[in-house]
Amino acid sequence: MQLLAVSKNRTAAELAAAAACGQRCFGESYLQEALAKQTALADADLEWHFIGPIQSNKTRQIAEHFDWVHSIDRLKIAERLNAQRPEQLPPLNVCLQVKLSAEPSKSGASIDNLTALAAAVQGLSRLRLRGLMALPAAVVDFERQRQPFRQLYALYSTLNSNGYQLDTLSMGMSNDLEAAIAEGSTLVRIGTAIFGPRSNPST
Ligand SMILES: *Cc1c(COP(=O)(O)O)cnc(C)c1O
Repeated sequence: MQLLAVSKNRTAAELAAAAACGQRCFGESYLQEALAKQTALADADLEWHFIGPIQSNKTRQIAEHFDWVHSIDRLKIAERLNAQRPEQLPPLNVCLQVKLSAEPSKSGASIDNLTALAAAVQGLSRLRLRGLMALPAAVVDFERQRQPFRQLYALYSTLNSNGYQLDTLSMGMSNDLEAAIAEGSTLVRIGTAIFGPRSNPST
């Protein structure tokens, strides 16, 4: 189980405090904010994950400054990241973000498009397809929390039985991490439960 500390809206000093406790992997959603913190923390040996929505004009800096991207939901973005990943860096680790039935309005590839997207991304040599990510709607009931995670696990298993070698199931946040782990999560993305409430809770 991997713990990704989601540090959007947190200061570089807050990240440094978490790093001093041994946390190495940080997830960010806003590019400019992330780049500033990467500069401030350049001496720490940290791993940076981009987890927010991606516009085309942001791909170059994401390809240049991150180790992982969890939020690939269309081929155009994957192709740009592939083309823009610098030669001297290892391939960019990526997860495909899936829009599950329980989350009609969020970004993510539709389940119908997932197989084709996975096949296309697998063919991009500067990307390394690692797994799937989802961001289900927040619900309180534990059994209802489990349903979309079970669905994502099934998609992941199907891809792996079709020859993929995915090792990352990025699912679970502060309010539903137990349900995600019960359904096979390999990586939980945790903000509030590490750093406390965000000052702008909608972000
Ligand atoms: C903000 C965010 C998280 C963390 O949410 P918490 O509820 O603070 O744990 C996880 N994943 C994504 C994609 C996010 O945007």
